[in-house]
Amino acid sequence: MPQKTPSSPKVAIIGAGAVGSTAAYATTIKNVASEVILIDINDSKEEGEVMDIADGLCFVETGCIKGADFKDARDADVIVITAGVPQKEGETRLDLVNKNIKITKSIFKSIGKLKKDTIVIMVANPVDILTRIVQQITKLPKGQVFGSGTSLDTARLRTELGHELKVSPQNIDGYVIGEHGDTEFVCWSNAYVGSKPLMDVIESMTELKLSDLEEIHNDVKNAAYEIIKRKNATYYGIGMTLVSITSAIINNDNRIVPISVYNNGIYDIEKDLYIGLPAVLNSNGVHHVVKIKLNEKENEQLLHSAKVLKDILKQMKF
Ligand code: NAD
Repeated sequence: MPQKTPSSPKVAIIGAGAVGSTAAYATTIKNVASEVILIDINDSKEEGEVMDIADGLCFVETGCIKGADFKDARDADVIVITAGVPQKEGETRLDLVNKNIKITKSIFKSIGKLKKDTIVIMVANPVDILTRIVQQITKLPKGQVFGSGTSLDTARLRTELGHELKVSPQNIDGYVIGEHGDTEFVCWSNAYVGSKPLMDVIESMTELKLSDLEEIHNDVKNAAYEIIKRKNATYYGIGMTLVSITSAIINNDNRIVPISVYNNGIYDIEKDLYIGLPAVLNSNGVHHVVKIKLNEKENEQLLHSAKVLKDILKQMKF
């Protein structure tokens, strides 16, 4: 399919809570779209967030940010779904599933028929499960529906490794993959610092040891729990992650991002599943999933993560 870059990109963000309003703010200040619309069932919250962000429009190139009705999302180029019940302290993302399925269904019922090339990014948790639900509800091509997946976790990994190695996070390449949740894992065998494999870097230094990697993995995996314990929600990191994904779509970047994508059998895991894997993103959505060579342990971890998601899909009410 030929790639298209919208001349006046419109981004609709559903949910004006902590994540949605931060994503709207980040999208506005990064000048990614001509128009940003924010939609929430709580009209007063939606209005307040829009008024607050709009106060700064004279400092940016984004043409407008406004509150809107669900049906106004029909012609958006990108729809970002952040509406949902947030994770509570001690609650896993998977506990949220049935509550957020109901909300997701009601949103698409209210929006109605989407334009056929709309791209939908799911953010509400459990993101891998809900992304599959969104694709089933919207019947959009599978590449046009994906979830934020392990992109935030990967950003956390890059920041932490950069900090440990005293290198910019931008020079750390590597992915957290699998479920966005407790079974996610780091592909250490494919992590690079500049062009050097991380494992070679570690061998030649004393500050970071192989035994520290498990701790870094745990920090990344538990970051949301730790942030929620201190301030009840996480939103800045995901807000910045979302604007980077949205801009990869609108600017047709062909950027590799670890997102929750439909597994079509490229990895040796259960099919008919959305799960966090690196994929090339452009203005058509997911162009293709990138196959990276996993070692035996990583392969087992991916199989386990996929099985956990598959078991939830079997149990949930949809
Ligand atoms: P929040 O409670 O601050 O905001 C949720 C908003 O959704 C509220 O404003 C609420 O009014 C709105 N809402 C509820 N039902 C709605 C409906 N039917 N239509 C429109 N709006 C509706 O929660 P939050 O902190 O913004 O988190 C939102 C979701 O994002 C949660 O599921 C959370 O777990 C998830 N999250 C995901 C990631 C990620 O990496 N994927 C990161 C952080 C948070």
